[in-house]
Amino acid sequence: MSGVNDIRSTFLDFFKKNGHEIVASGPLVPRNDPTLMFTNAGMVQFKNVFTGLETRPYKRAVTAQKCVRAGGKHNDLDNVGYTARHHTFFEMLGNFSFGDYFKDVAIELAWTLITREFGLDPKRLLVTVYHTDDEAAGHWRKIAGLPEDRIIRIPTSDNFWAMGDTGPCGPCSEIFYDHGEDIPGGPPGSPDEDGDRFIEIWNLVFMQFEQVTPEERVDLPRPSIDTGMGLERIAAVLQGVHDNYEIDLFKALIHASEEATGVKAEGPHRASHKVIADHLRAASFLIADGVLPSNEGRGYVLRRIMRRAMRHAQLLGAQEPLMWRLVPALVREMGQAYPELSRGEALISETLKLEETRFRKTLARGLQLLSEATAGMGAGDRLDGETAFRLYDTYGFPLDLTQDALRQRDIAVDVEGFNAAMERQKAEARASWAGSGEAATEAVWFAVKDKTGATDFLGYETEVAEGVI
Ligand code: ATP
Ligand code: MG
Ligand code: MG
Ligand code: MG
Repeated sequence: MSGVNDIRSTFLDFFKKNGHEIVASGPLVPRNDPTLMFTNAGMVQFKNVFTGLETRPYKRAVTAQKCVRAGGKHNDLDNVGYTARHHTFFEMLGNFSFGDYFKDVAIELAWTLITREFGLDPKRLLVTVYHTDDEAAGHWRKIAGLPEDRIIRIPTSDNFWAMGDTGPCGPCSEIFYDHGEDIPGGPPGSPDEDGDRFIEIWNLVFMQFEQVTPEERVDLPRPSIDTGMGLERIAAVLQGVHDNYEIDLFKALIHASEEATGVKAEGPHRASHKVIADHLRAASFLIADGVLPSNEGRGYVLRRIMRRAMRHAQLLGAQEPLMWRLVPALVREMGQAYPELSRGEALISETLKLEETRFRKTLARGLQLLSEATAGMGAGDRLDGETAFRLYDTYGFPLDLTQDALRQRDIAVDVEGFNAAMERQKAEARASWAGSGEAATEAVWFAVKDKTGATDFLGYETEVAEGVI
């Protein structure tokens, strides 16, 4: 059985052997890119190379990229703990061609790696292509010998990638692994494709066109390749398990959390241990890359992740702050591949400990309020926005924490009501400030703040140039 660390090296070495430069992961906070909250794909650090603004001394690259998908267009936060395949933090393995090889070579490299080096059974594999991409379908037939019924044509934007409203774009082709008929879920393109039987392991993007204006699309003179494979997902396949949270790395983290709480990861407690293990990684890597918990922008996403995990620690009956005690296990598992974790260990521990110490003071009281407010409610009911806002404002409950807490009872939250209460509070704050004699300056300040939502992040609305593959 190969562990996560071996699988990562096999991937990097395979592409190195095939003429690719091994490039280190970019940071989770993208450099000079205020449009993007966190790095969420391998191509982010190469955006300017793809558009031609920047050149590098190599035309082929391979990376293992740290990614966070917990905000903006790609937000997998709500999936964590409940699907077999989603994390907030994960590693994306990718190979890139900057105007060098194109579809045929990309498909051949991918197929060789997964069937020869990794030894996957070709009968378990199927692929999707964009419905008009006969070229890619032809390569899959010829190179992989896949029958027509396992080359699925998808007409939606799922199989057409674009950097933004303008810029490079093109069809993509995704590789799926069939985990077997015991697991619910249908093949891609079918009505129950969101199940976990057929799991997408690798996405190959063929950057073929440039969208010059919303109306005009031209062929790129030198098409490029951008791919992304989830390390945890391929590890699950290679380790013969269905759930990402059963791979070696997560077993070790969940074991640490079992030891620290004295509660086995079984039955209803399993989801809590998964959330804790996942959020431990996301929080630690974000802190290592310089993000600190705060009430806005990136720092607030970190705070939401941390507090969500902390409620699950409370559910497991933890009497003391838990998260910081799990940091050594994470450093043991991932510190060699990511030295910033070892270097940042003290800061990570302190930050987690301080946040949890503070939050525990209001967490229990907030949960008490929540249980009183929802007493007598049942599946299909909805918590009012005022209470959700009070939990936020007085007890420090991010909205998604409240939603997560009610999820098992199938109770929703009135999000519009929550937003309205928030707006009202802001308006009241403005009104009382206006009396202080500096109304003009403050009005401007509030206007700016409302518009940007944060000082260091330009808000979801401007998130157009996302590097998502
Ligand atoms: P899914 O449809 O399963 O949500 P995706 O199509 O959103 O995946 P891509 O944007 O194509 O994912 O990213 C490339 C690869 O990264 C995916 O094929 C998958 O292996 C991996 N990946 C994407 N999101 C996650 C996540 N939240 N956790 C773990 N791996 C992920
Ligand atoms: Mg997704
Ligand atoms: Mg997908
Ligand atoms: Mg995909």
